[in-house]
Amino acid sequence: MSIADELPQPLQRVLRTLGHELSAPPTRRIFTNRDLDFDQIEAVGFDMDYTLARYRQAALDELSLRVTVEKLEARGYPDAIRRVRPDPEFAVRGLIFDTRLGNLLKMDRHGYVGRVYHGLEKLSRDERKRLYRAQRIVREQGRYVHVDTLFSLAEVVLFANLVHLIDNEPQLWSDATRPSYEQAFRDVREAIDLAHQDDSIKTKIKANPAEYIVEDPELAPTLHKLRSAGKRVFLLTNSYAPYSNAVMTFLLGGRLPSYEDWTKYFDWMIVGAQKPGFFGEGQPFLEVRRDGTVVGEHKGPPLKNRIYQGGNRDGLQTALGVPADAVLYVGDHIYGDIVQPKKSSGWRTALVVDDLEHEISVRDDYAVAIREIQTLSILRDRLVEDVAHERHLQRVVSTIKPEALVDAGASDLLAATQMSEQGAMRARQRFDRLRKHAAHLDQQLRARAAEVDAAFNPYWGSVFAERQDSSLFGAQLEEYACLYTSRVSNFYYVSPTRYFRAPHGAMPHWRRF
Ligand code: IMP
Ligand code: MG
Repeated sequence: MSIADELPQPLQRVLRTLGHELSAPPTRRIFTNRDLDFDQIEAVGFDMDYTLARYRQAALDELSLRVTVEKLEARGYPDAIRRVRPDPEFAVRGLIFDTRLGNLLKMDRHGYVGRVYHGLEKLSRDERKRLYRAQRIVREQGRYVHVDTLFSLAEVVLFANLVHLIDNEPQLWSDATRPSYEQAFRDVREAIDLAHQDDSIKTKIKANPAEYIVEDPELAPTLHKLRSAGKRVFLLTNSYAPYSNAVMTFLLGGRLPSYEDWTKYFDWMIVGAQKPGFFGEGQPFLEVRRDGTVVGEHKGPPLKNRIYQGGNRDGLQTALGVPADAVLYVGDHIYGDIVQPKKSSGWRTALVVDDLEHEISVRDDYAVAIREIQTLSILRDRLVEDVAHERHLQRVVSTIKPEALVDAGASDLLAATQMSEQGAMRARQRFDRLRKHAAHLDQQLRARAAEVDAAFNPYWGSVFAERQDSSLFGAQLEEYACLYTSRVSNFYYVSPTRYFRAPHGAMPHWRRF
């Protein structure tokens, strides 16, 4: 609760219209990985797609799938692929394609494979271990491809379904035309790439933005609040001008009387930025109009209130006129928006992950079950340790010769033999009891974990976690995003001078015993 909540209602209402220190619902909090003094942030940049613009995933998946299937059919794929339906639960971010084996993987923070689907079939634990045992999957050129953005989700569904068809209905192709899994992946990738570039997807969205993009009445006030606090605001998107213009007009046009149109919310606007390349060599800045027609190439840093295409980080940094660590960039693409700018620019970063709202609700709903899992797993680990210890003891006892017991004080060999047998029996009994108990706990733990996993996502569990640890996606988020939150308008609820404080971590040996 903030101080504002204790003020008289009318004052609260006025404060609210000014966007002051409102308390956000728990699902819409901003989380901190690295301390960030918002007061010191002088420029805030925004990515557009899946950041300022939240897409309706099911509708967009349906559209991407439809146009991609058309393109694949034109390349000679059988019309059976029209049967593929979007499955927003199956396709989640953070997965990895194993294009060679036709598998989808979810990994933990250490790069070990926790779950695998081959096509649409989940692989058993044994099979998973056989294929990926102790294998750390790195960004091995070509074979493994990461699902870094929500735009890729249609690709996940299509690839999994193609693998399924290749395995189960091979007769749909002739022997000469049936693609390998790798080829199928390349074909899907190229078709989707083309669908994005030739405007087959964008024309449909432009014609009916409300069907694909979520309206957010808090977005314009959020940008206004940042600007009123004296922060410079810029747009940095890979989308080109005509599409950006359509989307931003839908989101911001006519929202606040003091802003004539969407461009007035931004000091600098860069479209077609080609991130992550933008953060490296980049391109020259090309001034364009909203419809994408070119005004001319621009030398030097970009000027305010104009729209540029291409560009590069150095030029933008000079234009911003503030130190790199006074810039906060907000985006959804873990690599292009977060890892790359962080590594090469020293910008501070915030990741928009809309899965977070579902994640937090489930964690809240299942709080007791989650606590139970944590406790059970500590107890199970202890039992497993005891079992290992007993097993060792049992072995040692079985090797002790009766003569050694006589030497150690047993009255005679007969007594020593009985003593040694009794010792072995007791060790065995204790070992059996502990082992049974550990197996029972393990079973309980698995059942409860499966229940919680299914609540997060029936195929993959939590996007952020793999078993008791962070998933690879969760770990990347922790490492590279200073802040993370479910939507841009969550910034509406925080003061522009907020000190975001990270929970300071603990090394294993800092834990209290
Ligand atoms: P941003 O998130 O605002 O930087 O924009 C992302 C842009 O990348 C959008 O215009 C997408 O249509 C585009 N995009 C997403 N996936 C692909 C792809 O696979 N190939 C080409 N463009 C893509
Ligand atoms: Mg984006």
